[in-house]
Amino acid sequence: MTDKHTFQTRLLHNDHKFDRQTGAVSVPIQQASTFHQKDFDQPGDYDYARSGNPTREALEDTIASLESGTKGFAFASGMAAISTSFMLLSKGDHVVISEDVYGGTFRMIYNVLHRFGIEHTFVNMTDLHEVASAIQPNTKVLYIETPSNPLLNITDIKAVVKLAKANNCLTFVDNTFMTPSLQRPLELGADLVLHSATKFIAGHSDVVAGLAATNRSDLAEELGFLQNSFGSILGAHDCWLVMRGLKTLDCRLKQSSESAEQIASFLSNHSLVDEVYYPGFTSHPGSSTHAYQSSGAGAVLSFRLKNEADVRNLSQKLELPVFAVSLGAVESILSYPAKMSHASMPEEERLKRGITDGLLRLSVGLESPDDLIRDLEKGLQYVGARRNLSRMVSN
Ligand SMILES: *Cc1c(COP(=O)(O)O)cnc(C)c1O
Repeated sequence: MTDKHTFQTRLLHNDHKFDRQTGAVSVPIQQASTFHQKDFDQPGDYDYARSGNPTREALEDTIASLESGTKGFAFASGMAAISTSFMLLSKGDHVVISEDVYGGTFRMIYNVLHRFGIEHTFVNMTDLHEVASAIQPNTKVLYIETPSNPLLNITDIKAVVKLAKANNCLTFVDNTFMTPSLQRPLELGADLVLHSATKFIAGHSDVVAGLAATNRSDLAEELGFLQNSFGSILGAHDCWLVMRGLKTLDCRLKQSSESAEQIASFLSNHSLVDEVYYPGFTSHPGSSTHAYQSSGAGAVLSFRLKNEADVRNLSQKLELPVFAVSLGAVESILSYPAKMSHASMPEEERLKRGITDGLLRLSVGLESPDDLIRDLEKGLQYVGARRNLSRMVSN
Protein backbone atom coordinates (compact mmCIF):
# COMPACT_ATOMS: atom_id res chain seq x y z
CA MET A 1 0.00 0.00 0.00
CA THR A 2 1.38 3.44 -0.84
CA ASP A 3 2.24 5.58 2.14
CA LYS A 4 2.03 8.83 0.25
CA HIS A 5 -1.73 9.06 0.78
CA THR A 6 -3.60 9.82 3.95
CA PHE A 7 -5.33 7.11 5.97
CA GLN A 8 -8.73 8.14 4.61
CA THR A 9 -7.62 7.62 1.01
CA ARG A 10 -5.73 4.42 1.76
CA LEU A 11 -8.96 2.81 2.94
CA LEU A 12 -9.98 2.81 -0.73
CA HIS A 13 -6.77 2.92 -2.71
CA ASN A 14 -4.62 0.03 -1.60
CA ASP A 15 -3.11 -3.17 -2.96
CA HIS A 16 -6.56 -4.70 -3.18
CA LYS A 17 -8.38 -1.88 -4.95
CA PHE A 18 -8.90 -4.22 -7.86
CA ASP A 19 -8.37 -7.88 -8.59
CA ARG A 20 -5.12 -8.44 -10.49
CA GLN A 21 -6.58 -11.20 -12.62
CA THR A 22 -9.90 -9.75 -13.72
CA GLY A 23 -9.76 -6.08 -12.79
CA ALA A 24 -12.86 -6.51 -10.61
CA VAL A 25 -13.22 -3.48 -8.33
CA SER A 26 -14.07 -5.61 -5.33
CA VAL A 27 -12.00 -8.38 -3.79
CA PRO A 28 -13.34 -11.72 -5.11
CA ILE A 29 -14.85 -14.05 -2.53
CA GLN A 30 -12.80 -17.19 -2.96
CA GLN A 31 -15.22 -19.80 -1.69
CA ALA A 32 -12.90 -22.80 -1.73
CA SER A 33 -11.69 -25.04 1.06
CA THR A 34 -8.77 -26.44 -0.93
CA PHE A 35 -6.62 -25.55 -3.93
CA HIS A 36 -5.40 -27.67 -6.80
CA GLN A 37 -1.69 -28.49 -6.66
CA LYS A 38 0.17 -29.05 -9.93
CA ASP A 39 2.29 -31.69 -8.24
CA PHE A 40 3.63 -32.26 -4.77
CA ASP A 41 6.78 -30.27 -5.43
CA GLN A 42 4.75 -27.20 -6.41
CA PRO A 43 2.00 -26.64 -3.86
CA GLY A 44 1.36 -23.06 -5.10
CA ASP A 45 0.49 -20.07 -2.89
CA TYR A 46 -2.50 -21.78 -1.27
CA ASP A 47 -3.12 -25.36 -0.30
CA TYR A 48 -5.84 -25.66 2.34
CA ALA A 49 -8.06 -22.71 3.27
CA ARG A 50 -7.53 -22.87 7.03
CA SER A 51 -3.87 -22.15 6.32
CA GLY A 52 -4.57 -19.50 3.70
CA ASN A 53 -7.33 -18.09 1.52
CA PRO A 54 -6.89 -15.18 -0.94
CA THR A 55 -9.93 -13.28 0.35
CA ARG A 56 -8.74 -13.59 3.93
CA GLU A 57 -5.25 -12.65 2.87
CA ALA A 58 -6.55 -9.44 1.29
CA LEU A 59 -8.18 -8.45 4.59
CA GLU A 60 -5.09 -9.49 6.57
CA ASP A 61 -2.83 -7.38 4.33
CA THR A 62 -5.19 -4.45 4.64
CA ILE A 63 -5.38 -4.43 8.45
CA ALA A 64 -1.60 -4.87 8.69
CA SER A 65 -1.06 -1.85 6.51
CA LEU A 66 -3.71 0.32 8.20
CA GLU A 67 -2.25 -0.45 11.63
CA SER A 68 1.29 0.31 10.37
CA GLY A 69 2.17 -3.33 10.85
CA THR A 70 3.76 -5.89 8.59
CA LYS A 71 1.44 -8.84 9.14
CA GLY A 72 -2.26 -9.15 9.85
CA PHE A 73 -4.54 -12.01 10.88
CA ALA A 74 -8.30 -12.46 10.55
CA PHE A 75 -10.17 -14.56 13.09
CA ALA A 76 -13.71 -15.82 13.54
CA SER A 77 -14.39 -13.22 16.26
CA GLY A 78 -12.66 -10.65 18.40
CA MET A 79 -12.48 -13.23 21.19
CA ALA A 80 -10.89 -15.74 18.79
CA ALA A 81 -8.21 -13.15 17.97
CA ILE A 82 -7.66 -12.37 21.65
CA SER A 83 -7.64 -15.94 22.91
CA THR A 84 -5.38 -17.16 20.11
CA SER A 85 -2.97 -14.33 20.98
CA PHE A 86 -2.90 -15.44 24.61
CA MET A 87 -1.73 -18.83 23.34
CA LEU A 88 1.60 -17.09 22.69
CA LEU A 89 2.05 -17.58 26.44
CA SER A 90 3.06 -20.79 28.17
CA LYS A 91 2.40 -22.45 31.50
CA GLY A 92 4.01 -20.47 34.30
CA ASP A 93 3.83 -17.14 32.47
CA HIS A 94 2.07 -14.14 33.94
CA VAL A 95 0.08 -11.27 32.38
CA VAL A 96 -0.72 -7.84 33.73
CA ILE A 97 -4.06 -6.67 32.44
CA SER A 98 -6.40 -3.68 32.68
CA GLU A 99 -8.98 -4.34 35.38
CA ASP A 100 -11.75 -2.78 33.28
CA VAL A 101 -11.04 -4.96 30.28
CA TYR A 102 -13.81 -6.22 27.95
CA GLY A 103 -16.02 -8.75 29.80
CA GLY A 104 -15.20 -11.62 27.43
CA THR A 105 -11.47 -11.02 27.80
CA PHE A 106 -11.89 -10.97 31.57
CA ARG A 107 -13.71 -14.31 31.39
CA MET A 108 -11.02 -15.82 29.16
CA ILE A 109 -8.24 -14.80 31.55
CA TYR A 110 -10.09 -15.46 34.78
CA ASN A 111 -11.80 -18.76 33.97
CA VAL A 112 -9.78 -20.33 31.17
CA LEU A 113 -6.12 -19.28 31.11
CA HIS A 114 -5.94 -19.88 34.80
CA ARG A 115 -6.57 -23.59 34.19
CA PHE A 116 -3.55 -23.73 31.91
CA GLY A 117 -1.26 -22.35 34.57
CA ILE A 118 -1.08 -18.84 33.14
CA GLU A 119 -1.29 -16.33 35.97
CA HIS A 120 -2.69 -12.83 35.88
CA THR A 121 -2.87 -9.62 37.85
CA PHE A 122 -5.61 -7.10 37.13
CA VAL A 123 -4.44 -3.52 37.62
CA ASN A 124 -5.65 0.00 37.15
CA MET A 125 -3.64 0.60 33.94
CA THR A 126 -3.98 4.36 34.30
CA ASP A 127 -1.79 4.12 37.39
CA LEU A 128 1.76 3.42 36.17
CA HIS A 129 3.07 2.75 39.67
CA GLU A 130 0.49 0.04 40.11
CA VAL A 131 1.43 -1.43 36.71
CA ALA A 132 5.15 -1.37 37.54
CA SER A 133 4.67 -3.04 40.88
CA ALA A 134 2.50 -5.79 39.35
CA ILE A 135 5.29 -6.88 37.00
CA GLN A 136 6.92 -10.13 38.14
CA PRO A 137 9.97 -12.00 36.83
CA ASN A 138 7.62 -14.29 34.84
CA THR A 139 5.46 -11.48 33.40
CA LYS A 140 5.34 -11.78 29.62
CA VAL A 141 2.52 -9.48 28.52
CA LEU A 142 1.05 -6.13 29.53
CA TYR A 143 -2.48 -6.00 28.13
CA ILE A 144 -4.13 -2.65 27.47
CA GLU A 145 -7.56 -1.49 26.39
CA THR A 146 -7.78 2.26 25.87
CA PRO A 147 -10.27 3.86 26.06
CA SER A 148 -11.56 1.11 28.32
CA ASN A 149 -15.01 -0.38 28.32
CA PRO A 150 -17.42 0.89 29.54
CA LEU A 151 -15.87 3.71 31.60
CA LEU A 152 -13.56 5.07 28.88
CA ASN A 153 -10.50 5.21 31.10
CA ILE A 154 -7.34 6.21 29.26
CA THR A 155 -4.07 4.32 29.49
CA ASP A 156 -0.84 5.97 28.38
CA ILE A 157 0.25 3.48 25.70
CA LYS A 158 3.80 4.82 25.32
CA ALA A 159 4.43 4.76 29.06
CA VAL A 160 3.20 1.17 29.40
CA VAL A 161 5.29 0.14 26.37
CA LYS A 162 8.33 1.65 28.07
CA LEU A 163 7.66 -0.37 31.23
CA ALA A 164 7.12 -3.48 29.13
CA LYS A 165 10.36 -3.08 27.19
CA ALA A 166 12.35 -2.43 30.36
CA ASN A 167 11.01 -5.72 31.75
CA ASN A 168 11.22 -7.84 28.60
CA CYS A 169 7.46 -8.01 28.20
CA LEU A 170 5.22 -7.66 25.19
CA THR A 171 2.48 -5.03 24.97
CA PHE A 172 -0.89 -6.06 23.51
CA VAL A 173 -3.48 -3.39 22.79
CA ASP A 174 -7.17 -4.01 22.15
CA ASN A 175 -7.86 -1.16 19.71
CA THR A 176 -11.54 -1.94 19.08
CA PHE A 177 -12.91 1.39 20.37
CA MET A 178 -10.56 3.58 18.34
CA THR A 179 -9.68 1.58 15.20
CA PRO A 180 -6.53 2.55 13.25
CA SER A 181 -8.45 5.55 11.98
CA LEU A 182 -8.03 7.24 15.37
CA GLN A 183 -5.20 5.38 17.12
CA ARG A 184 -2.31 3.23 15.91
CA PRO A 185 -0.67 1.48 18.89
CA LEU A 186 2.11 -0.15 16.84
CA GLU A 187 3.39 3.34 16.01
CA LEU A 188 3.56 3.96 19.77
CA GLY A 189 5.69 0.86 20.33
CA ALA A 190 3.08 -1.82 21.06
CA ASP A 191 3.84 -5.32 19.76
CA LEU A 192 0.39 -6.60 18.92
CA VAL A 193 -2.90 -4.86 18.13
CA LEU A 194 -6.19 -6.69 18.51
CA HIS A 195 -9.67 -5.90 17.26
CA SER A 196 -13.20 -6.98 17.49
CA ALA A 197 -13.86 -6.11 13.83
CA THR A 198 -17.50 -6.84 14.65
CA LYS A 199 -17.64 -3.25 15.90
CA PHE A 200 -16.46 -0.10 14.08
CA ILE A 201 -14.24 -1.81 11.50
CA ALA A 202 -17.05 -3.77 9.86
CA GLY A 203 -19.53 -1.28 11.25
CA HIS A 204 -22.91 -2.56 10.07
CA SER A 205 -24.01 -5.09 12.73
CA ASP A 206 -23.90 -7.86 10.16
CA VAL A 207 -20.74 -9.83 10.90
CA VAL A 208 -18.73 -11.16 13.85
CA ALA A 209 -14.99 -10.94 13.19
CA GLY A 210 -11.61 -10.42 14.83
CA LEU A 211 -8.31 -9.02 13.63
CA ALA A 212 -4.72 -8.86 14.84
CA ALA A 213 -1.72 -6.98 13.49
CA THR A 214 1.96 -6.84 14.38
CA ASN A 215 5.17 -5.34 13.03
CA ARG A 216 7.41 -8.03 14.52
CA SER A 217 8.38 -10.93 12.29
CA ASP A 218 8.90 -13.31 15.24
CA LEU A 219 5.42 -12.64 16.61
CA ALA A 220 3.92 -12.81 13.13
CA GLU A 221 5.39 -16.24 12.60
CA GLU A 222 4.22 -17.56 15.98
CA LEU A 223 0.74 -16.11 15.63
CA GLY A 224 0.42 -17.49 12.09
CA PHE A 225 1.33 -20.90 13.46
CA LEU A 226 -1.27 -20.54 16.24
CA GLN A 227 -3.96 -19.30 13.84
CA ASN A 228 -3.47 -22.40 11.74
CA SER A 229 -3.18 -24.70 14.78
CA PHE A 230 -6.30 -23.45 16.55
CA GLY A 231 -8.14 -22.84 13.31
CA SER A 232 -10.52 -20.10 14.40
CA ILE A 233 -10.17 -18.31 11.06
CA LEU A 234 -12.63 -15.90 9.47
CA GLY A 235 -14.59 -17.28 6.51
CA ALA A 236 -14.25 -15.77 3.03
CA HIS A 237 -17.71 -14.15 2.95
CA ASP A 238 -17.18 -12.51 6.31
CA CYS A 239 -13.73 -11.28 5.24
CA TRP A 240 -15.39 -9.60 2.29
CA LEU A 241 -18.01 -7.94 4.53
CA VAL A 242 -15.29 -6.60 6.81
CA MET A 243 -13.42 -5.17 3.81
CA ARG A 244 -16.56 -3.54 2.53
CA GLY A 245 -17.16 -1.98 5.95
CA LEU A 246 -13.58 -0.75 6.17
CA LYS A 247 -13.97 1.47 3.11
CA THR A 248 -16.25 3.87 4.97
CA LEU A 249 -14.53 3.59 8.36
CA ASP A 250 -13.07 7.06 8.38
CA CYS A 251 -16.20 8.97 7.44
CA ARG A 252 -18.40 6.86 9.70
CA LEU A 253 -16.16 7.52 12.68
CA LYS A 254 -15.91 11.24 11.92
CA GLN A 255 -19.66 11.68 11.82
CA SER A 256 -20.36 9.44 14.81
CA SER A 257 -17.65 11.08 16.92
CA GLU A 258 -19.02 14.55 16.20
CA SER A 259 -22.47 13.43 17.21
CA ALA A 260 -21.12 11.66 20.31
CA GLU A 261 -19.54 14.88 21.51
CA GLN A 262 -22.82 16.77 21.14
CA ILE A 263 -24.74 14.04 22.93
CA ALA A 264 -22.17 13.85 25.72
CA SER A 265 -22.55 17.61 26.27
CA PHE A 266 -26.32 17.36 26.28
CA LEU A 267 -26.28 14.54 28.84
CA SER A 268 -23.76 16.21 31.10
CA ASN A 269 -26.11 19.19 31.46
CA HIS A 270 -29.15 17.07 32.29
CA SER A 271 -30.45 17.04 35.86
CA LEU A 272 -31.21 13.29 35.91
CA VAL A 273 -27.69 12.37 34.78
CA ASP A 274 -25.12 11.92 37.48
CA GLU A 275 -21.98 11.56 35.38
CA VAL A 276 -20.90 11.30 31.74
CA TYR A 277 -17.77 9.42 30.70
CA TYR A 278 -16.33 10.74 27.45
CA PRO A 279 -12.60 11.16 26.72
CA GLY A 280 -13.32 14.22 24.57
CA PHE A 281 -14.20 16.29 27.64
CA THR A 282 -11.24 18.29 28.97
CA SER A 283 -12.56 17.42 32.44
CA HIS A 284 -11.95 13.71 31.72
CA PRO A 285 -8.83 12.73 33.72
CA GLY A 286 -7.25 11.03 30.69
CA SER A 287 -8.14 13.63 28.07
CA SER A 288 -4.64 15.03 27.49
CA THR A 289 -3.06 11.57 27.24
CA HIS A 290 -5.83 10.55 24.89
CA ALA A 291 -5.37 13.66 22.76
CA TYR A 292 -1.66 12.89 22.51
CA GLN A 293 -1.97 9.27 21.43
CA SER A 294 -5.07 9.38 19.25
CA SER A 295 -6.77 11.72 16.84
CA GLY A 296 -10.30 11.79 18.20
CA ALA A 297 -12.45 10.90 21.17
CA GLY A 298 -14.46 8.26 19.34
CA ALA A 299 -18.14 7.47 19.22
CA VAL A 300 -18.74 5.71 22.53
CA LEU A 301 -19.80 7.36 25.77
CA SER A 302 -21.21 6.10 29.02
CA PHE A 303 -23.45 7.85 31.50
CA ARG A 304 -24.72 7.15 34.96
CA LEU A 305 -28.27 8.01 35.92
CA LYS A 306 -28.79 9.47 39.38
CA ASN A 307 -31.40 6.81 40.11
CA GLU A 308 -30.51 3.26 39.17
CA ALA A 309 -34.19 2.38 38.95
CA ASP A 310 -34.61 4.78 36.01
CA VAL A 311 -32.41 2.71 33.72
CA ARG A 312 -35.23 0.35 32.81
CA ASN A 313 -37.70 3.15 32.05
CA LEU A 314 -35.24 5.08 29.94
CA SER A 315 -34.06 2.13 27.91
CA GLN A 316 -37.66 1.13 27.20
CA LYS A 317 -38.73 4.64 26.23
CA LEU A 318 -35.95 5.46 23.75
CA GLU A 319 -37.02 5.01 20.13
CA LEU A 320 -33.82 5.38 18.18
CA PRO A 321 -30.91 3.48 19.72
CA VAL A 322 -31.13 -0.26 19.36
CA PHE A 323 -31.05 -1.72 22.88
CA ALA A 324 -28.47 -4.43 22.38
CA VAL A 325 -25.07 -5.88 23.15
CA SER A 326 -22.46 -4.43 20.80
CA LEU A 327 -21.22 -1.07 19.58
CA GLY A 328 -19.59 0.59 16.62
CA ALA A 329 -22.42 0.26 14.13
CA VAL A 330 -24.21 2.57 11.68
CA GLU A 331 -27.20 2.53 14.03
CA SER A 332 -26.79 3.83 17.57
CA ILE A 333 -26.67 1.09 20.18
CA LEU A 334 -27.59 1.50 23.82
CA SER A 335 -26.39 -1.15 26.19
CA TYR A 336 -26.57 -1.93 29.84
CA PRO A 337 -23.10 -3.13 30.88
CA ALA A 338 -24.19 -4.61 34.21
CA LYS A 339 -26.50 -7.08 32.48
CA MET A 340 -24.85 -7.32 29.05
CA SER A 341 -21.13 -6.88 28.28
CA HIS A 342 -20.09 -7.33 31.92
CA ALA A 343 -22.67 -9.88 33.02
CA SER A 344 -19.92 -12.51 33.03
CA MET A 345 -18.01 -10.56 35.68
CA PRO A 346 -18.71 -11.43 39.32
CA GLU A 347 -20.85 -8.64 40.84
CA GLU A 348 -18.22 -7.72 43.39
CA GLU A 349 -15.55 -7.29 40.68
CA ARG A 350 -18.00 -5.34 38.53
CA LEU A 351 -18.95 -2.86 41.26
CA LYS A 352 -15.29 -2.43 42.22
CA ARG A 353 -14.71 -1.23 38.65
CA GLY A 354 -17.51 1.34 38.80
CA ILE A 355 -19.83 -0.63 36.53
CA THR A 356 -22.83 0.05 38.70
CA ASP A 357 -26.49 -0.64 38.03
CA GLY A 358 -27.14 2.96 36.94
CA LEU A 359 -24.63 2.94 34.11
CA LEU A 360 -25.59 2.94 30.43
CA ARG A 361 -23.30 2.89 27.41
CA LEU A 362 -24.19 4.58 24.15
CA SER A 363 -22.42 3.86 20.89
CA VAL A 364 -23.39 6.66 18.56
CA GLY A 365 -24.27 5.77 14.99
CA LEU A 366 -25.07 7.77 11.89
CA GLU A 367 -28.51 9.12 12.75
CA SER A 368 -28.86 12.89 12.89
CA PRO A 369 -27.47 14.00 16.26
CA ASP A 370 -30.48 16.32 16.63
CA ASP A 371 -32.85 13.37 16.39
CA LEU A 372 -30.80 11.39 18.89
CA ILE A 373 -30.74 14.26 21.37
CA ARG A 374 -34.48 14.81 20.98
CA ASP A 375 -35.05 11.11 21.64
CA LEU A 376 -32.91 11.20 24.78
CA GLU A 377 -34.60 14.38 25.92
CA LYS A 378 -38.04 12.82 25.57
CA GLY A 379 -36.90 9.63 27.29
CA LEU A 380 -35.42 11.47 30.23
CA GLN A 381 -38.52 13.67 30.50
CA TYR A 382 -40.64 10.52 30.77
CA VAL A 383 -38.33 9.09 33.40
CA GLY A 384 -38.53 12.34 35.39
CA ALA A 385 -42.33 12.42 35.17
CA ARG A 386 -42.60 8.79 36.32
CA ARG A 387 -40.35 9.60 39.23
CA ASN A 388 -42.47 12.60 40.28
CA LEU A 389 -45.61 10.54 39.95
CA SER A 390 -44.36 7.73 42.15
CA ARG A 391 -43.20 10.30 44.71
CA MET A 392 -46.70 11.81 44.80
CA VAL A 393 -48.31 8.39 45.17
CA SER A 394 -46.04 7.35 48.01
CA ASN A 395 -46.67 10.65 49.83
C1 LIG B 1 -16.73 -6.85 21.37
C2 LIG B 1 -15.38 -6.70 21.92
C3 LIG B 1 -14.50 -7.78 21.98
C4 LIG B 1 -14.90 -9.18 21.56
O1 LIG B 1 -15.13 -9.26 20.19
P1 LIG B 1 -16.17 -10.31 19.51
O2 LIG B 1 -16.06 -9.96 18.07
O3 LIG B 1 -17.51 -10.05 20.10
O4 LIG B 1 -15.67 -11.67 19.84
C5 LIG B 1 -13.23 -7.55 22.46
N1 LIG B 1 -12.84 -6.34 22.88
C6 LIG B 1 -13.67 -5.27 22.85
C7 LIG B 1 -13.17 -3.95 23.33
C8 LIG B 1 -14.96 -5.41 22.38
O5 LIG B 1 -15.77 -4.36 22.37
